[in-house]
Amino acid sequence: MNIHEYQGKELLKSFGVSIQEGIIAETPEQAVEAAKELHQKTGTGWWVVKAQIHAGGRGKGGGVKLAKSLEEVQELSSRIIGMNLVTHQTGPEGKFVRKVLVAQDVYYPGGSSIREFYMSVLLNRQTGRNIIMYSTEGGMDIEEVAEKTPHLIFKEEVDPGTGLLSFQARKIAFKLGLSGKSYKEMVKFVTALYRAYESTDASLFEINPVLKTSDDYILAVDAKVNLDDNALFRHADYAVLRDLNEEEPAETEASAHNLNFVKLDGNVGCMVNGAGLAMATMDIIKLSGGDPANFLDVGGGANAQTVEAGLKIILSDNNVKAILINIFGGIVRCDRVAQGVVEAYKKIGEVSIPVIVRLQGTNAEGGKKIIDESGLKVYSAITLKEASELVQRLVS
Ligand code: GDP
Ligand code: MN
Repeated sequence: MNIHEYQGKELLKSFGVSIQEGIIAETPEQAVEAAKELHQKTGTGWWVVKAQIHAGGRGKGGGVKLAKSLEEVQELSSRIIGMNLVTHQTGPEGKFVRKVLVAQDVYYPGGSSIREFYMSVLLNRQTGRNIIMYSTEGGMDIEEVAEKTPHLIFKEEVDPGTGLLSFQARKIAFKLGLSGKSYKEMVKFVTALYRAYESTDASLFEINPVLKTSDDYILAVDAKVNLDDNALFRHADYAVLRDLNEEEPAETEASAHNLNFVKLDGNVGCMVNGAGLAMATMDIIKLSGGDPANFLDVGGGANAQTVEAGLKIILSDNNVKAILINIFGGIVRCDRVAQGVVEAYKKIGEVSIPVIVRLQGTNAEGGKKIIDESGLKVYSAITLKEASELVQRLVS
């Protein structure tokens, strides 16, 4: 589950990570109030107005702007709230901005130089360890740094058994070229950041930039946080962090029905029981000249309700030209599934695209009979070869 920058920063702060302070706003009026409150709290006279969407590259796309007066806060936030923000991570269709984070300006001049670093904590699946990735080249695309100056990206592996050891935190601060107060601040920052990553069961915490202010504080200016869905049951309080506006509606609908669904760009919808069979089915569709429109695993108990929910979700995609239902009747009987398909089909009403049902396993013949005798425009197949030939014929 991805969360917004402002939510990520609140999480960080609750674990003692220093952040660029900010207040969330949904209207320009709220933004001005937020700016006043920040002035009282931090003394700042300049603010940054930051679009809150689940995508990076907002700065370059015009979603992060510096305001030097309350009038500018009002003006910029009314421009950013309601805009369709296009960044290299949103795709050309962009994302609608509903909220802005009004934050204190932390790039103020002072005694020493301002520096931007990159830091992320994530899982290295190969070694089964956590990894802190960091670089002196913060503020820009880390992909670009990786390509042009890979020697400026450093990695520190952390054994989950021992956690981050204090010498590792010191090494990181040292390699970033810090000394004195900023060095000590960085050691605290890294230690708290790792604790936040571990305690929240996150799969990613990416802070770009991590800022060294001109008075040698270390702050998180941005926060990209990905929380592990499989650990959410341990954090009931994180449910409120989910923003359904940022998620694919079909996927939200599917998860409400306990269906494992991933939307894709093709023209053949598929409904399958079992993740492995679903992957194989997508291959078959590809081999027969189609392109899968989705991954959908209805799980072990395919019944009329799940078939209906699955069909509706697939049909909500206008690219879909045919649907392939591929069910292996192991625990579930094929005649029951066939009955479910017929019921769901009748309930949904006019389905204008062809539906191919391939049933194999317990009572497969009985299932085929039910489909064939239903009088509906449903094609039945028993072997995968028959099914793929039907797909080929119907989408080409
Ligand atoms: P991203 O573009 O989506 O990664 O959003 P960021 O939160 O990283 O902000 C983009 C850029 O805005 C940063 O790299 C900074 O250069 C700039 N920025 C962020 N906060 C401030 C601030 O307080 N003052 C100034 N002057 N610039 C800021
Ligand atoms: Mn950033």
